[in-house]
Amino acid sequence: MTEQRSTNTFKTEALRTGRFRLDGGGMFGIIPQALWSKWVERDEANRVGLQCNAMLLQDGERRILIESGYGEKWNEKDRSIFGMEDRTAVDALAEIGIEPDQITDVILTHLHFDHAGGITRWSDPKRGDDGGFEPTFPKARIIVQAREWEDALANRSTMTKTYLESHLKPIADRIVAVDGMSEILAGVTVRPVPGHTWGQQAIEWSDGKHEYVFPGDVCPTRAHVHPSASTAYDVEPWTNMNTKQAVLNRCREEGRLLVLGHDPDSPVVRCVGRPDGGRGHVLEPMESI
Ligand SMILES: [Zn+2]
Repeated sequence: MTEQRSTNTFKTEALRTGRFRLDGGGMFGIIPQALWSKWVERDEANRVGLQCNAMLLQDGERRILIESGYGEKWNEKDRSIFGMEDRTAVDALAEIGIEPDQITDVILTHLHFDHAGGITRWSDPKRGDDGGFEPTFPKARIIVQAREWEDALANRSTMTKTYLESHLKPIADRIVAVDGMSEILAGVTVRPVPGHTWGQQAIEWSDGKHEYVFPGDVCPTRAHVHPSASTAYDVEPWTNMNTKQAVLNRCREEGRLLVLGHDPDSPVVRCVGRPDGGRGHVLEPMESI
């Protein structure tokens, strides 16, 4: 079956929506510490440095935000546990002159806190939780897979505090729940990439020069290129391993650029063969896109 795609293209910009830190064992699953600690730096608490990477797509009509980061609704204790920087998608957008009400669509790979936390904010920052919550992007629709939305509401996760009501309830009436692969906007296709969650989706588009794939936590950083490097938070590590191989093979064969949701340094990479000709892939940073 050939895929009918729109030829619509987008001005594409990478946004850094906040650094944070997670336990290295959690991030690398079954990979022994002796190995992963050679791939990435760890701190005294055994945490590794990550970034919440997002993308802004503009075509003159729509301003589409892919991922929203962890947002601002965190107290000092949370910020200390996760080493969270005081920075959000709103800050990243302000730096390029975009206001929250100019965002027309937010597309999320999945609804864990570090991807969906930024879709809501405190209505009154001085009162925190007591003042209630509101959508961060007042005019935006929120596009996720129906399966992800259902699992998030039912809190089906190996983590108890990642699908938070404060992220989800205030935007419930904005949700566009997609079922499977679909060109949800002209030139933007979502494709299921299960494993990390059952309902995770990749987002695909073109800027006229490159084709992009943003697959969420299928492969969160360059250090996750190893087939077995799936996070310990995955609901199905075996499925994620197979999903990742399929995504990497396709990017390499078709020359698509990959956007890594949590790489601390290089959000956009291309997938190439190993210099020694061995099996497996290398993710090479793109200096500019
Ligand atoms: Zn994540």
